[in-house]
Amino acid sequence: MPRPLPMIEAPVRRILGVRVHDVTMEEALRIVDAFLAEGGAHQICTVNPEFVMHARRNLPFFQVLERADLNVPDGVGLLWAGRILNQPLRERVPGVEFMEALAARAAERGWRIFLLGAAEGVAARAATALRSRYPGLTIAGTFAGSPRPEDAPEILERLRTAQPDLLFVAYGAPQQDLWIARYQPELRIPVAMGVGGAFDFIAGVVPRAPRWMREHGLEWLYRLIQQPWRWRRMLALPRFVLAVLAARYGSGGTGAGAV
Ligand code: UDP
Repeated sequence: MPRPLPMIEAPVRRILGVRVHDVTMEEALRIVDAFLAEGGAHQICTVNPEFVMHARRNLPFFQVLERADLNVPDGVGLLWAGRILNQPLRERVPGVEFMEALAARAAERGWRIFLLGAAEGVAARAATALRSRYPGLTIAGTFAGSPRPEDAPEILERLRTAQPDLLFVAYGAPQQDLWIARYQPELRIPVAMGVGGAFDFIAGVVPRAPRWMREHGLEWLYRLIQQPWRWRRMLALPRFVLAVLAARYGSGGTGAGAV
């Protein structure tokens, strides 16, 4: 059973059966405060339509999302689905922005952060960018590594030595989230979160969509134009839309509980 969220009641919603918390950015930050205060090991996932479609076919990933301490709604697609399926989600909590807000908070509170993943050198560049944006931020370490099991011993050793309070893992979903779930019981890092391509954005390796596109839910289109090789993966988006509409208007009622 997942532990209850401390202090803040974050309602659980089901989007095509996949678990997402109805939290605002501000609430998510206060929940992280509570995780740090209570100690122990926590996992945060940033759920978007690709996660939902993947979790429906990949039982281990579905189970990681069932057990995570906090699943933030990352993306306008989830809010739309929430409205259609009567599983209201109040606000997007985009992974990159959440990571930046956590870095700002880490600088204020003295939390040590570790950036694991992305291509060689990108985590270090992202760390440099974060430190210049949030003076006083303590970087416990950066390392590219890989999600391959044979690389785990070295990564675990580095993390044990660095003793971070927050660990950001950029191996893309679902590998990063499976990796965290697999190793958190031995690492026991207070908060570990999968962040997908966030280091690439923060380091400036990949440009982010302009604000107007993000605000109009068009980030996917910008990413498709920038990184056209993503088209196959992005087929998850229309499939998500169709699955949501089928769940709502097909023969199966609201679809809120359907996996
Ligand atoms: N990545 C990695 N090792 C891997 C696979 C991916 O370091 O074996 C990194 C990749 O360099 C990128 C991130 O994981 O920085 C995944 O980015 P993507 O944009 O695909 O993730 P999304 O945000 O779509 O989940």
